[in-house]
Amino acid sequence: MYAHGQTVIQLVEKLAPKKLAMEGDEQRIGLQVGTLQKEVRRVLVALDVLEPVVDEAIAKNVDLIIAHHAVIFRPIRHLRTDLPQGRLLDKCIKHDIAVYVAHTNLDVAAGGLNDWLAEELGLAQTEVLFPLSREKLKKIVVFIPTEHVDAVMNAMAEAGAGWIGNYSHCTFQIPGTGTFMPREGTNPFIGQQGALERVAEVRLETIVPASIQSRVIRAMLDAHPYEEVAYDVYPLEQEGAPQGLGRKGVLPEPMTLAAFARRVKERFGLSGLRFVGSAERMVHKVGIIGGDGNSFIPQAAAKGIDVLVTGDVYYHTAHEAMALGLALVDPGHHVEQVMKRRLASYLSEALAKEYPGTEVFASEICTDPFSFL
Ligand SMILES: [Zn+2]
Repeated sequence: MYAHGQTVIQLVEKLAPKKLAMEGDEQRIGLQVGTLQKEVRRVLVALDVLEPVVDEAIAKNVDLIIAHHAVIFRPIRHLRTDLPQGRLLDKCIKHDIAVYVAHTNLDVAAGGLNDWLAEELGLAQTEVLFPLSREKLKKIVVFIPTEHVDAVMNAMAEAGAGWIGNYSHCTFQIPGTGTFMPREGTNPFIGQQGALERVAEVRLETIVPASIQSRVIRAMLDAHPYEEVAYDVYPLEQEGAPQGLGRKGVLPEPMTLAAFARRVKERFGLSGLRFVGSAERMVHKVGIIGGDGNSFIPQAAAKGIDVLVTGDVYYHTAHEAMALGLALVDPGHHVEQVMKRRLASYLSEALAKEYPGTEVFASEICTDPFSFL
């Protein structure tokens, strides 16, 4: 059994909803080449869609590439197959390879790229470094006949309702009596047409991020035995978890900047990196922002961190960080390649049960343009 293209992408967007994309980036995410209206047997996860990556996809009979960096970054003015970009797009089309991009939406997503980077560094007590917004919350209240409470609760919890901090399945349940009279044209689960029914029911209430409200309601309706389900949705004043770019956290113990830089080098399997600041200074609180974090460096200094890990650091931004007393470690933009393995295993696991035929794997092509000597 193979997954449909849309099914695969629904799983990507469950992790990294498109609406999380940064302003200006929303035009460069999503499906960029080909179609999702097809069966998908093999999925390749890549950081960059360069020609060798497309060749790898062709050699491995891939139907869909999921990439972090856009394959079409600026609007194209021509599709010339005698030029590199046109040749690459032509290969994708000829081999029916779709290309889907999850960029800043994957960076911002809870459990997405910046969390993966923080985990690779072994940071604890991780939180968002630059909050952009907070999730809106809703309360869903549903009335369930007593013996079906657990089934409905579990379905709602599996769809993402009932999280408070690191606690899942948070609900409150009050027993009571539900009344109803089935009328003409009904097919009641309990009772008969024209007779007033009194049923032992439970009022179950739980909290849900507004972004997944419809998914939770669908799961609730599917698990509920009634033909017509009584439920209410309330907007809440309090806000959910902050969403944003970068993460901050603490190292297991303070260490020198040089030791920390070595740790970064080892954890990301690098042959070299650059750092800014005195090698002997102690660092404990660490910020990390995948890709190019230049524009965030001045604000990072105000976030109470000792060192910021980010790529593509400019000469003058490094001077700025020094003046602000913020140490920097620049492991390169390419450390974002952890997304290949992480996203591939997330998708493999999510698809395994229903669509065991669909294979998802990480690209084996290294797209780091830089070498060290
Ligand atoms: Zn990047």
